[in-house]
Amino acid sequence: MLAQRKGRETGSGLMDIKFTNRLSYKQARLTVLVGFILGTLLSLIQIGIDYASEDASINREVQALLQISHNPASRIAYNIDAELALELTRGLLQSPAIIRARLIDNNDTVLADVQRARLEDRYRPLSDFLFGELRQFQERLYLAHMPNEYLGTLYLDVDTYAFGGRFLDRAGITLINGFARSLVLTGILLALFYMMLTKPLVTVIGALSGSDPRQPRQTRLECPHGHEHDEIGVLVKVANQQFVSMATEIQQRRTSDNRLTQYLNELEDIVSARTTELKASNSRLSQSNQELEEARQRALDMAQARAAFLANMSHEIRTPLNGMLGMIALALDSPLASEQRQQLSIAHDSGKVLVELLNDILDLSKFDAGQLELERIPFDIGAMVEDTANLLSQNAAQSVELTCLIASDFPSMVLGDPTRVRQIVSNLLSNALKFTRFGRVDVRLAMIVGGVSLEVRDTGIGIPEEAQARIFQPFTQAGAGITRQYGGTGLGLALTRNLCQAMQGHLHIQSEPGFGSRFSAQLPLTWHTEAIAPPPLQGRVVALSDASSGLSELLQDRLPAWGLQYQRQDTAARLDPTAIDLLITDDLDHLFELRPVFTGPILLVTAYGNFLPGEQSTSLAPLHQLARPLARNALYQTLRRTLQGQAPEHPLATPSATRYENRARILLVEDNPVNQLVAKGMLAKLGCQVQVAAQGAEALELLEQDAFDLVLMDCNMPVMDGYEASRRIRQSGRWPELPIVALTANAMPEERERCRAAGMDDYLAKPFRREELLALIDHWVPLSG
Ligand code: ADP
Repeated sequence: MLAQRKGRETGSGLMDIKFTNRLSYKQARLTVLVGFILGTLLSLIQIGIDYASEDASINREVQALLQISHNPASRIAYNIDAELALELTRGLLQSPAIIRARLIDNNDTVLADVQRARLEDRYRPLSDFLFGELRQFQERLYLAHMPNEYLGTLYLDVDTYAFGGRFLDRAGITLINGFARSLVLTGILLALFYMMLTKPLVTVIGALSGSDPRQPRQTRLECPHGHEHDEIGVLVKVANQQFVSMATEIQQRRTSDNRLTQYLNELEDIVSARTTELKASNSRLSQSNQELEEARQRALDMAQARAAFLANMSHEIRTPLNGMLGMIALALDSPLASEQRQQLSIAHDSGKVLVELLNDILDLSKFDAGQLELERIPFDIGAMVEDTANLLSQNAAQSVELTCLIASDFPSMVLGDPTRVRQIVSNLLSNALKFTRFGRVDVRLAMIVGGVSLEVRDTGIGIPEEAQARIFQPFTQAGAGITRQYGGTGLGLALTRNLCQAMQGHLHIQSEPGFGSRFSAQLPLTWHTEAIAPPPLQGRVVALSDASSGLSELLQDRLPAWGLQYQRQDTAARLDPTAIDLLITDDLDHLFELRPVFTGPILLVTAYGNFLPGEQSTSLAPLHQLARPLARNALYQTLRRTLQGQAPEHPLATPSATRYENRARILLVEDNPVNQLVAKGMLAKLGCQVQVAAQGAEALELLEQDAFDLVLMDCNMPVMDGYEASRRIRQSGRWPELPIVALTANAMPEERERCRAAGMDDYLAKPFRREELLALIDHWVPLSG
């Protein structure tokens, strides 16, 4: 109802068309305007024609008057009759147009001159404008039988207003008539247009605006009577057709809307059913999640407990083991029968393997318990790799060439954890050496984007593809016979990969059975100090070595970079001895044949075990021997010495015990009697005098009594521990220069920090080797003289 009323209101609103906006008015206005303009134009033409004829009729009428007056006036002039002349002129003045008449004889004597006032009126100026104010006429007077005898002249002044007034009246009527006709025409046209156009249109619009498209059946427009076949009839028909198609469409839409609503309802039902199901499975899932979380927590707790147990156990096992190893090492230094030496060596080697195994197990358990912490300090990774390779070179098989290839632009220092990087190098390298019987083992170091690439390549037995993923699992080997043939625990690679991952790096493997393996660790160690190029060398160096050897690759990379002229030859056949300053060779077999050909200095690069004994090397002089793998610094110093005759900048330290008695006075603070014995034995071998204190308080007493060069302080001791003792020594202020070195089994950064905070200067991780102890003593108690 409301909608209908609204529609009707809207319809009547539509019908409120302003009169001036209506079509009928507009059409009538247009027609009338055109009619009016045309009518006016025609009236004006008519007036124009009238004007022309009126203008001509003035002259015509006056001429007629003059002709009528000609004869009487001629006779009057002939007779010179003034009285008649006056009568004639007065008679002429009777004409409404003549305002002055004058008759003159042939002597110019005025016979009569009469005039009257002209007519004044408000339209006069217009008439004067159109016809002129005054027109003058004159007639020459003569008698008909004496046409050549001039008798006088008749002058007439004509007032044009008599004609102009008439003309203006007529023109006014013509115009008014035209306007009146236009007005009547407008009225008639307006009525006609309204009846024929506006009214039927208004009816159709009314019907259209009153119709409701949502009820199409009722919406059928009636055609106004008499318009069935004209444009309005067509309009109504088209509108009716549109209504029908709209009705069909609306019907279809309604049907599909209904279907959609039905589908939506069904969908809602399905969704709510699914939601209920999901809720149920969600709650099941969260319950099992909770159970899983509990299980995970239990597993973590167990792993931590296992790690703690392992840590304690390994510490407990390691202490007696260190004692045992130390004692065996001491025994090995004493004079022994060869059989006893061999037995003790085997015991010592087995002990070392046991210690390494323990370390690996401890490290792995630290990973499991998430206890592994990494350091970030600057260290020379190149030198570290060379040192490690040098240490492990004794494991290399006789026909294996071990080479360290360090990129010449490699930085001299990087930031990272040196202990852990050393572990990675040592694990990969010891595997490569273990599984390679002949060929090459190379360690390569290069800078890559975002870090360092450490690569260990070998030409060993290789690893089958299916085993490559497995070998990173703890206690797993590539094949069944590996342990039997090569030994090993299967922990090294697991640990190495864990270490790489802990450093945010990656460990990749490429291997082919029978051809060798390539392990590449990419570690994000940042650059700290750039590579320092040593002063350039001068000389011509020739290498006699196979093109495929590691030595050739190393020399080719290094020697030109150090400024040397370098050349490689396969054999000595085409050697020009005069053009060589130094000959480098790794061919031990042909050395003796070479000597007669070339008398200059020769550098023999070979495995440490293959070094020529004293008398042989003297017979081949000048001969220098360098052990594989060649370290960059050792090679540089040898070249420098040989080519330029200069002494090395840092001559290698030789064990000082043999050179010096009473090397240093050392206070050893250690509660464990075995450790006491081991350390004491080692220090004695190094030429040191040792006094032992079993705990901190005893150490303080001994310090009061005697002077010492160095204190070796165990950290965990009964009565007074190492930290407290160090603090007291420093607090007393009596021995400010005395170096205190912590002996600790735990080399973690926080432990070192704790030692430093207690006033200790350095630390030595237990178990320590004799070389480490010597290096430490050399550092803190330098030899004078
Ligand atoms: P293991 O102490 O047995 O060497 P690792 O975890 O270091 O333990 O190595 C696991 C296994 O991976 C080895 O037993 C060996 O089968 C294989 N493997 C590791 N490195 C090499 C290599 N360079 N060449 C051939 N096989 C290797």
